[in-house]
Amino acid sequence: MKFGGSSVANAERIKRVAQRVVEKKLEGHSVAVVVSAMGDTTDDLIELARQVSKNPPDRELDMLLSTGEQVSIALLAMAVNEFGHPVVSLTGPQVGITTDDIHTKARIIKVEGDRLNDVLNQGKIAIVAGFQGRSLNDDITTLGRGGSDASAVALAAALKADVCEIYTDVDGVYTADPRLVSDARKLNYIGYDEMLELASLGALVLQPRSVEMAKQFGVTIHVRSSFNNNPGTLVEEVDKMEKVRVVSGVAHDLKVAKMSLLDVPDRPGIAAILFNSLADEKINVDMIIQSTTRGNNANDISFTIEKDDLDQAVKVVERVSQELGAGGFIYGSDIAKVSIVGAGMITNPGVAANMFSALAAEGINIEMISTSEIKVSCIIQAEDTKKAVMALHKAFNLEVE
Ligand code: ASP
Ligand code: MG
Repeated sequence: MKFGGSSVANAERIKRVAQRVVEKKLEGHSVAVVVSAMGDTTDDLIELARQVSKNPPDRELDMLLSTGEQVSIALLAMAVNEFGHPVVSLTGPQVGITTDDIHTKARIIKVEGDRLNDVLNQGKIAIVAGFQGRSLNDDITTLGRGGSDASAVALAAALKADVCEIYTDVDGVYTADPRLVSDARKLNYIGYDEMLELASLGALVLQPRSVEMAKQFGVTIHVRSSFNNNPGTLVEEVDKMEKVRVVSGVAHDLKVAKMSLLDVPDRPGIAAILFNSLADEKINVDMIIQSTTRGNNANDISFTIEKDDLDQAVKVVERVSQELGAGGFIYGSDIAKVSIVGAGMITNPGVAANMFSALAAEGINIEMISTSEIKVSCIIQAEDTKKAVMALHKAFNLEVE
């Protein structure tokens, strides 16, 4: 059972989680619990760090951020203890979550299940701090924002758990953000690949890395509400053909920015220089479009990045633009990425065309397009986001099962 920050945001909620955990144990299950930091604690700690230092060392950030989860496990263990049930809180390092040493976005490389197994075999409830681990150099690391999901899936895999229940403030995975689309529907199940796309394309309900690990180790995830007992969404291998939907959901992401390098000379090696320079600064590039040459032996290269990386990308592109003798560059962040995701797309022609028609009918201009086997994404103006998501939800009849 994993409980996110909103589920343990205050003492009342922690007590409620404790009760839920104890009930699960009394049903006869062995229970390992993973918790996130209370409410907005992680954001607050980051803000505090910024007040002390403009550019805090990542190692020290990890030392600081990992404290949020340590508060939660201690309090939840105390609350469970109130029910008279044996319980023990454990940090990531104590349960043997070993990571690489990329501070603030470390990846789990192995989990030693022994200590946790011992605790569970003694009949105790284990409360484990999410989001944190220990590097091979013995330093405390964190797993990237939302990383408690990854902790939970990794422990579920190590324990060979029946299921990894992710308790959150929504009822499950929806066909679109219910705040934008009133008839968005909770999905009863979704495959790993579709879930991975949705999570990567802006659906905030699961951290993408956790879905990747779940797929790798065959962990079934059950995304459900911490505020009610309704069944949520099962994320698992969907191999029965009749279960494959053409389109399963619509995702949107406002945290994108786009840049265009204009009138770059048309010769081999240009794209390599540009994108290597961005990669050197660890800037992730998403969509890329290069126009065809217009006769002046020059073309434009446009691409999208995460909004948070824009300032740094501007510096890189400014330099590269001069180096390459380009005509200049433009950028903007008033854009959004809307995407449709569905495993059945591969075998059904006309899905992308449908998407473009639906956007056109609303008078929405498409600025960039990218596709994979199971998704189509379009960049549009940010102000059109709601209209676009509603139109796509309707065009693919997602309100009906
Ligand atoms: N507390 C961390 C964060 O806010 C990890 C998590 O919530 O999963 O990103
Ligand atoms: Mg959180």
